[in-house]
Amino acid sequence: MSMVPRTRENLIKCRCKSCPSYTFTCKMMAMPGNMILLIDPMDNDKLHAETMFCAYDKSQCINEEKGCECGNCEVFKKYELGKTYFCTVTGGK
Ligand code: SF4
Ligand code: SF4
Repeated sequence: MSMVPRTRENLIKCRCKSCPSYTFTCKMMAMPGNMILLIDPMDNDKLHAETMFCAYDKSQCINEEKGCECGNCEVFKKYELGKTYFCTVTGGK
């Protein structure tokens, strides 16, 4: 279980949406789910999260590692995550 709290505050800080690995197609496909997640970030049993992968499972869409923004993210610094690419490997690598 991730140590990163699934809060709206952390979701807003997540830099995944501005990352080169997060393709335009994945962003479009994930948009409705990610909007719902912002309303209730804890309601993850019913919804797969395609964002803040350090707090949820890995992506079901991103599969090419083209750079990672985690190191520049406030959530990464606050929780001293020490890993990157949470979208391709659950728990990061
Ligand atoms: S976990 Fe890293 S590589 Fe994956 S989308 Fe987020 S910032 Fe990009
Ligand atoms: S550390 Fe990476 S996955 Fe976690 S909130 Fe920041 S950008 Fe998103």
